[in-house]
Amino acid sequence: MTMADYDACIRRRLGLDPTADHADVQTARSSRLAAAIAAARTTSPFYRRRTDWPAGPVDGAADLPRLPFTTPEDLARADPPLVAVSGADVARIVTLPTSGTSGTPKRIAFGLAELEATVDYFHHGMAIFTEAGDRVAIAFASDRPASVGDGLALALKRLGAIPLRLDVADDPAALVAALRHEGPDVVAGPPVTLLAAARLSAADGGPPIRLKAVLVSSDYAAPSLKRAIVQAWDCAVHDHWGMTETGYGGAVDCPAHLGLHLREADLFVEVIDPATGRGLPPGEEGEIVISTLQPRATPLVRYRTGDIGRLVDAPCACGSHTSRLVGLRGRIRDEVVLGDGLRLALADIDDVVFGIDGVSDVEASVTVGPSATLALRLAAPPLLRSPALAEAVRRAVAAAPAWGHAVASGRLRLEVTVGDTVRFTRAEKRRLHHEVFHA
Ligand SMILES: [Zn+2]
Repeated sequence: MTMADYDACIRRRLGLDPTADHADVQTARSSRLAAAIAAARTTSPFYRRRTDWPAGPVDGAADLPRLPFTTPEDLARADPPLVAVSGADVARIVTLPTSGTSGTPKRIAFGLAELEATVDYFHHGMAIFTEAGDRVAIAFASDRPASVGDGLALALKRLGAIPLRLDVADDPAALVAALRHEGPDVVAGPPVTLLAAARLSAADGGPPIRLKAVLVSSDYAAPSLKRAIVQAWDCAVHDHWGMTETGYGGAVDCPAHLGLHLREADLFVEVIDPATGRGLPPGEEGEIVISTLQPRATPLVRYRTGDIGRLVDAPCACGSHTSRLVGLRGRIRDEVVLGDGLRLALADIDDVVFGIDGVSDVEASVTVGPSATLALRLAAPPLLRSPALAEAVRRAVAAAPAWGHAVASGRLRLEVTVGDTVRFTRAEKRRLHHEVFHA
């Protein structure tokens, strides 16, 4: 399968001919955007009552920077609600885990048509590295509040593959046993779950697990984590970006691994300077902002995702002209910038720590007071736990360019311990814990 089918799926969903060119796609997206914004302004109480909305019609993409942002707090407050349809049209309401300090969970409602759009997207996204007849293990935890397992299984059946639901996501040993028993061709799951299984299976002396591809999704995946899975399983690793707000699917890694190709029929993406809100040109790093293009039960106009990345609209070496997210770096909330400009980002911590063989997960916390402390609690399978592991991580973290000088000068203290768990179970995305003590 080539990326041509992925691009054709986007053209079809935009109502275009399969041979439509890149300019046709962008024109169609711009008019979808104008229509989606007009619909949100009419049917969503939140957008109807906004007082900071500029006068006059919104004609399309060029007008977007004039509009105010929508924040996760707007979604959580739901006063007025964003939901645009009557209760009868809503097929599913997903409540996201509480995050931040507001304590109010965000709720996203989905209509039947958009759930179908998500299955269609999964179908064509998985087809980039999955063929008819492939056995595909699904290792997402079934207790996740916004489980994607059902949609993924349905999408895999549509492409003629065989979904295998493995309900062992929090136990790497059980996952390794299930993979050896089922012998899948492809496995899809959260990054740290698959890292733990990959490292354990490479070290436990059992039969090798032969996979052709792995999909990591539902949380940020550091480059070193993906390399470790490639090394352990000798397979392609495809990353996926998305969140409940994007309708689960958002962007998927192509065979060239030169970025994640966006779900362009459903999402319009901007990258902005998070401090000023100013739009950034293609290629510059900033906060990813999304607007929904198709009719949605919960329409979003310029929604600030809090994720960091770059947008590239040049054609890709894989043959696709669909724009890409590159250089994804986790979330703004998972960065702590100290008074002297010292920046501690979970994405950087992950990249260093997951580069050390044996680590399957890490919990990181920063305590800021008279001095700053970075505490790392490591998880490792019993087989790979050793006194040397914490020391190897400590040495690697102390040498990291981003903060090594602060460790050397005593400005930043490091505490590295190995926990007695294999993996830290959690219902939400990993985060950098942060506490401030005032002396
Ligand atoms: Zn590509």
